[in-house]
Amino acid sequence: MNEQFQQALSVIETLKRHGHEAYFVGGAVRDYLLQRPIGDIDIATSAHPQEVMSIFPKTVPVGIAHGTVMVIERGVSYEVTTFRKEGRYEDYRRPKDVTFVSSLYEDLQRRDFTMNAIAMNEHGDIIDPFGGTEALKQRIIETVGDAAERFNEDALRMMRALRFVSQLGFSLSTKTKQAIIQYGHLLQHIAVERIAVEFEKLLLGPFMSKAIDLLIETNLFCYLPELATKKKELAQLATYSIVPTHRTEAWARFAFVVHFHQKELKKWKLPNHFIRDILICLKALEHIRSLSDWTIDTLYEYGSYIPHIERIRAALDHDEPHVHLLLKQWEALPIHNRKELAINGNDLLILFERKAGPWLAEMIENIERAVLHREVENEKEKLKEWAVCNQRRENNC
Ligand code: ATP
Ligand code: MG
Repeated sequence: MNEQFQQALSVIETLKRHGHEAYFVGGAVRDYLLQRPIGDIDIATSAHPQEVMSIFPKTVPVGIAHGTVMVIERGVSYEVTTFRKEGRYEDYRRPKDVTFVSSLYEDLQRRDFTMNAIAMNEHGDIIDPFGGTEALKQRIIETVGDAAERFNEDALRMMRALRFVSQLGFSLSTKTKQAIIQYGHLLQHIAVERIAVEFEKLLLGPFMSKAIDLLIETNLFCYLPELATKKKELAQLATYSIVPTHRTEAWARFAFVVHFHQKELKKWKLPNHFIRDILICLKALEHIRSLSDWTIDTLYEYGSYIPHIERIRAALDHDEPHVHLLLKQWEALPIHNRKELAINGNDLLILFERKAGPWLAEMIENIERAVLHREVENEKEKLKEWAVCNQRRENNC
């Protein structure tokens, strides 16, 4: 067992001391067996949420209705969920009610894929009733039980299957793939926000190309917002192999390739501030590609977005990103934003003894460009002198 699990052992041991069963489950066990870095550790237990809350001093009731309590031990949080099976599924979505059950087996049975239905006890023994370890060995994604039934229960699982393809590079089992082809349309019943979470993970995965090819092959893309008419563009996206390092980069590259603008991004219900970031990247990409390269002006204008934009540019051009070099060039600029100018609007109002008006914004912009291009030093007196000369020049023509 690795250090993270060792640390989490105390949660399992405490639950057991109180007479309950408790196991590590889900993605952490899967990733541990794959020798990948593990994310959050989830624990399944026979204890009911109220019992979990009374046993541990620090807890947060994050999802009591679904049996989940967050336990915080030595600053690390663990999701502790009561063994459960899910109630009746309505409209192909996650059920509203769940029933607590007494056996680990039933809890594992309600999970989506065999590789995600493996438990590990406090000794590191693996409990694997559905053949998850074999699936990991074969690098296969396979539903627990009948694929058609499981996708009818919760259609989001089809998107999850493809995001795991992107993250792990695994293949879909024949039955799982066939069921996605047959029931892909059920994705229409799923909240866009839930789809977007999985799609984002797909865009960020090292095997994105493989997942996008499958999105196309299974026709699942037809049921993603605004993508039904974008088969050709998606196929293009699958040709890019650079793995994005950030969600802004992932979405912006995707949006650039499939020609998504604000309207389409809004359909994905992404947060407004995030859409704004993506749109800045899109504008910058158009701009830089139209100039064939970065310039002093574009470095200045896109400042903190440079790493994202450069990595997307490189991916699109099948080129190496020059992030480090560009950041050095950016650092060497005489100013990095307007606030760094040694003169402000007030200074100019006094200097020219004029009332504020459109002339002022224009003047500041001119000064900003002149400083940026080193036509004048960023020093108050020099800028005043330059502004007066500039004004005279403008008046003369
Ligand atoms: P990640 O490493 O990305 O967090 P994960 O496998 O832990 O991957 P989560 O979304 O955190 O994925 O879910 C935790 C576990 O809950 C899964 O491993 C799976 O067992 C189960 N699970 C999650 N979503 C579903 C679902 N829609 N249907 C069935 N089981 C699910
Ligand atoms: Mg997880």
